[in-house]
Amino acid sequence: MPAISPPRISKRTLDALAVQGKRILVRVDYNVPLDGQGVITDDTRIRETLPTLNFLLEKGAALILCAHLGRPKGRPDTDYSLQPVAKRLESLLRKNVQMAPDCIGEKVQDLARALKPGDLLLLENLRFHAEEEANDPAFAKALASLAEGFVQDAFGAVHRAHASTAGVPSILPSAAGLLLAKEIYYLSKVLENPERPFIAVLGGSKVSDKIEVIESLLNKVNALLIGGAMAYTFLKAQGLEMGNSRVEQDKLDVAKSLLKKAQDKHVQFFLPQDHLIVEQIDAKAPSKNTGDSNIPAGWTGVDIGPQTAKTYSTLLSKAKTVVWNGPMGIFEMPPFAAGTLAIAQALADITPRGAITIVGGGDSVAAVQQAHLADKLSHISTGGGASLEFLEGKTLPGIAALPDA
Ligand code: ADP
Ligand code: MG
Repeated sequence: MPAISPPRISKRTLDALAVQGKRILVRVDYNVPLDGQGVITDDTRIRETLPTLNFLLEKGAALILCAHLGRPKGRPDTDYSLQPVAKRLESLLRKNVQMAPDCIGEKVQDLARALKPGDLLLLENLRFHAEEEANDPAFAKALASLAEGFVQDAFGAVHRAHASTAGVPSILPSAAGLLLAKEIYYLSKVLENPERPFIAVLGGSKVSDKIEVIESLLNKVNALLIGGAMAYTFLKAQGLEMGNSRVEQDKLDVAKSLLKKAQDKHVQFFLPQDHLIVEQIDAKAPSKNTGDSNIPAGWTGVDIGPQTAKTYSTLLSKAKTVVWNGPMGIFEMPPFAAGTLAIAQALADITPRGAITIVGGGDSVAAVQQAHLADKLSHISTGGGASLEFLEGKTLPGIAALPDA
């Protein structure tokens, strides 16, 4: 496999790091879902690290991989061992992956020192030590002492100031891996220099989760298209009836002030003009379209309606930059997934015409994957919380800690 080169970003990338004949510590995101038997149910996160690992291996590095898995409460817990990840990585790389008994300490030191170029050692769960999340300097030093250089590739963890994100890069020569570089490239491109029209599509369950991202995007976009349960709070704030739909009563004022801000900033703010509604949230429940923005008493909104899907698709067909976070409806139930699929399709249609299309957020990404459209969009942001914080305009400690290019 030929090595892929990273996009140009403001931070140093792995191609600029001296790695040949060196032991390189790589922070990866191996926080994979496991079933009750400890079997990995989705290895996307492991597969996504392969380009970075292959890049470094081809350049003659020995790799020491570190990661966290789940929430083991700062002490060893076999339920959260990375052992299954080592096995899966072995079969994906077709190379031996040695599993360390811990992530720091003398035994691990010995294993690290014995590594030769091309070797791989996976450290045990970083969160078996409370010092990881506390960004304890001594712990960061112990981790750094295993290697001669550091590559950060765990985008999903860089919004936290932990030892393996914020601590280690201040000790070792460091750089961003391919996965992280791609995230930074796309997310900063849309925030700093978007081609217009720039449209954000926001949905999901709650306004309260997305207030800051809406505030930040109001300074950037030409239009905001709102769907999901979040829309009901905005519509209710405008005095419409929402039946039994999920409305955040305590966020009506926030919703009003966001609508006002959009108006002041001349950002077009679109809310659903119709809804798919049911009497019970059940995939088998009979559903109907409202035909307008109200939802009658006794009924619950579960998706944007067909008129809204059409309006949004038409608006998106003219966009040059799109950021999407949050599904349009309860897409987990197939009868309520049409609105979400329409957005995914609209983005897939404009991407080959030169638009930059980015999806972030765990559930939105899952929806795009379910629709088999992931490879039709410019960028699928895997970070969840990290992508949201990036779009909120926050400084992410694990990125800030890396040296400039
Ligand atoms: P993401 O993970 O993409 O950031 P969120 O976590 O904010 O998205 O929201 C996803 C959730 O929102 C999904 O579980 C979906 O079922 C829910 N949701 C979307 N529309 C509605 C609705 N109309 N009523 C209730 N829940 C909804
Ligand atoms: Mg979610």
